[in-house]
Amino acid sequence: MKRFANLEEISDGKLYQTRDMVKADCLGCKNCSKCCHGMGDTITLDPYDIWRFRKGLHKELRDFLEEGSVALGVVDGVILPHMAMVGEEERCFFLTDEGWCGIHPWRSGLCRLFPLGRCYEGDRLQYFVQRGECEQPKVKVKVEKWLDTPQLQQYEGFLLEWRNILNQTIEQFGRLEDIELQREWNLRFLSCFFATPYEWEADFYEQFAQRRTLWNSWNEREHKATEG
Ligand code: SF4
Ligand code: SF4
Repeated sequence: MKRFANLEEISDGKLYQTRDMVKADCLGCKNCSKCCHGMGDTITLDPYDIWRFRKGLHKELRDFLEEGSVALGVVDGVILPHMAMVGEEERCFFLTDEGWCGIHPWRSGLCRLFPLGRCYEGDRLQYFVQRGECEQPKVKVKVEKWLDTPQLQQYEGFLLEWRNILNQTIEQFGRLEDIELQREWNLRFLSCFFATPYEWEADFYEQFAQRRTLWNSWNEREHKATEG
């Protein structure tokens, strides 16, 4: 799973929308668990994933870090959580001995998406089939069914917004010359969007909006203080 790449290199160039049919359904994966191995730090998590984990597994980020199922990595200067690959086989912590996803109903957004990829174009999302990532035979399925995500339109709105926040944050942290300050802001970002436990019974999108407002106002204040 590549984060940022040239579309022609990683797909056949065809783009799909949520109502389109796409050849992505691997029919239960038939004893294959290739994409749950050796993924390094690429299965990054977003705040919605963390809320879903909390809702389904009743644990917060700290618990996942402690048990080793989730690790922290740095993406373009920003600390983000990702699914941890463990042991000699570098397998996902949640992959069962039988080769199934042990948290299937709560698996992350990137796990639900695979073998599709997402393409961000202005204020809309499109999807493509990742080339060379999953060689199993596939049948056609509607993109929205494959994504297996409730309130899909709202979710896509969140993804676009999260992408903007990440891009701004990457740019902003990149301008910080003081390493200590970079670390401090990173920890603040992590705490705001990931580490402060979400209310699993409350609506995710409302909680995300509150945190975004909090982050923006903290950010503005610190920015002024740093400049001043
Ligand atoms: S590589 Fe394809 S068939 Fe294999 S587990 Fe992943 S999605 Fe399923
Ligand atoms: S969470 Fe499930 S689908 Fe995702 S990598 Fe782990 S075992 Fe595979």
